[in-house]
Amino acid sequence: MAGKKTSPRGKSAPSNGRKPLLVEKISDGTVIDRIDAGKGWRVLAMLGLNSGAPQGRIALVVNVPSRHMGKKDILKIEGVYVEPKMANKIALISPQARLNIIKGSKVSKKLDVFLPDNVAGIGKCPNPKCISNSEKIETGFSRRDHHLRCRFCERLFNAEELV
Ligand code: ZN
Repeated sequence: MAGKKTSPRGKSAPSNGRKPLLVEKISDGTVIDRIDAGKGWRVLAMLGLNSGAPQGRIALVVNVPSRHMGKKDILKIEGVYVEPKMANKIALISPQARLNIIKGSKVSKKLDVFLPDNVAGIGKCPNPKCISNSEKIETGFSRRDHHLRCRFCERLFNAEELV
């Protein structure tokens, strides 16, 4: 266990139980829970929500105390239902993440992210010389323990390198 620090921001809170920040619940959209602490920004960027003009509200709460993870990030996206394929892309960054699809203020679906043994059309090969970067072809990777191997150049990468 990491030592408890007194946070200079906000009020003091009990060390047990939850300490909710003032983030409103969303009635329709997606809540991505259990993101590895510090990776919420990357998930946000990967979903393409860090630029442009999103329609709804977006809340990213970082370093939320978590019983299972120590700390986690939570992302709430109003008005967007994240698709399963995109959910699997999140697995590249944070394999423990869980999505809650919210409809009419209720959780209509829970989606654990899942990195399949064979990943197609998700991620980009980090090898600049790989043919998948010069031709318009769908990328493909197969899982080798903790790495993913590019179907085209056969190099091994960490999942996070693909996003
Ligand atoms: Zn490659």
